[in-house]
Amino acid sequence: MAKPTGARCNLNCAYCFFLKKETLYPGDHFRMSDDLMERYIRQTIEAHSTPEVVIAWQGGEPTLMGLDFFRRSIEVEKKYLRPGMEIQNTLQTNGTLLDDEWCEFLQENKFLVGLSMDGPRELHDRYRVDKAGRPTFGRVLNAVRLLQKHKVDFNILCTVNAANGDHPREVYRFFRDELGAEYLQFIPVVERVSERGFQEGHEVTDRSVRPEQYGRFLIDIFDEWVRRDVGRMFVQQFDGTLMAWLRGHSSLCIFQRTCGEGVALEHNGDIYSCDHFVEPEYLLGNICDKPMIELVGSETQRRFGQHKADLTRQCRECLVCFACNGDCPKHRFTKSADGDEGLSYLCPGLKMFFEHVNHPMQIMASLLRQGRLTEGVMQVLSQEEAVTSKVGRNDPCPCGSGRKYKRCHGSPKYGLNPVGKLG
Ligand code: SF4
Ligand code: SF4
Ligand code: SF4
Repeated sequence: MAKPTGARCNLNCAYCFFLKKETLYPGDHFRMSDDLMERYIRQTIEAHSTPEVVIAWQGGEPTLMGLDFFRRSIEVEKKYLRPGMEIQNTLQTNGTLLDDEWCEFLQENKFLVGLSMDGPRELHDRYRVDKAGRPTFGRVLNAVRLLQKHKVDFNILCTVNAANGDHPREVYRFFRDELGAEYLQFIPVVERVSERGFQEGHEVTDRSVRPEQYGRFLIDIFDEWVRRDVGRMFVQQFDGTLMAWLRGHSSLCIFQRTCGEGVALEHNGDIYSCDHFVEPEYLLGNICDKPMIELVGSETQRRFGQHKADLTRQCRECLVCFACNGDCPKHRFTKSADGDEGLSYLCPGLKMFFEHVNHPMQIMASLLRQGRLTEGVMQVLSQEEAVTSKVGRNDPCPCGSGRKYKRCHGSPKYGLNPVGKLG
């Protein structure tokens, strides 16, 4: 992903770890030149042997570059695109600078927009404020309506933090019922106390979501989603998790065994191992000195990605490891039960979530293997619940397993199997 304004942004969200990164480039104007933009797009297209190329713009706030920069980027894409290739442009934004002209451009060029919003007004405005400390909810809501008016594809990126973490259904229903959004991501705020905004230290700020709070947040939303919204609402974490049950590995980098394919390009051409590790130690080089493909394929980056597979014993022996893989390295700053360093801060919440979703995930994976739609899970669960509402914990389970009900659907350890059959 490319950050044309680096860490520069027109907002001042209290939990933002990007803003402190401005100190990495003292005195800089944080503006990608047209030459560098062309180099980035050309190198990205040249590096692809697949027909689909993704050009991802992120921030800071990329719309601060102005619309003309992005108009020129489309011209550059057309110049280098080879026959048969297609480009998907994506833009992650806080939405506050979008207007009709922007949205017409985004629609015309089929951009996929990620919009940051933390829920209804009071919850959103708790941390998402501008440089003058003013709330931003109204401006972001306006952006949603503009995107909808111009039929621009967008998804909502909602951070889960100490303030909205206790209101999962309120947040979910707001996005679904009031906003009319269909694609959601719930990203945990795990903000370490560091003056430099680096991944260092063991303490988190009081804005950070607590581990169990995050687990309960996901579980509450999952329980509502899996009973009424499958096939019409799309939650990135749930889709990614389903892949773990279906194929044995999640589609999200944080839950994969290794990582390292999502490098971050700064405004001046510097490439870092990941957007969460824009720190001198993780600087791979500059695309003006070396082609991007060499930096991405470098031994340093390979080691960065492989390092994710080093797990504590607690993780290696964990029943949900196939789905979690120890979480993202940026969260691994607590000790395991055996005293090993490197357990995810979010572990208790993630474990709760993965164990909780086991049974419905098995049903959905089974449906997909039979060539059926995941929507069928809603009917299966409702039939099961109608039957089991009459069954005591010590009665035989109505699923026919021969186990007592409490040992079957009542036990979180039952049937955890990435490629298992419907339990
Ligand atoms: S909009 Fe994004 S980049 Fe800007 S301050 Fe908020 S979190 Fe940081
Ligand atoms: S460090 Fe985390 S966010 Fe970055 S690529 Fe690895 S798993 Fe993904
Ligand atoms: S749930 Fe906890 S113990 Fe299990 S793999 Fe994830 S971080 Fe490790």
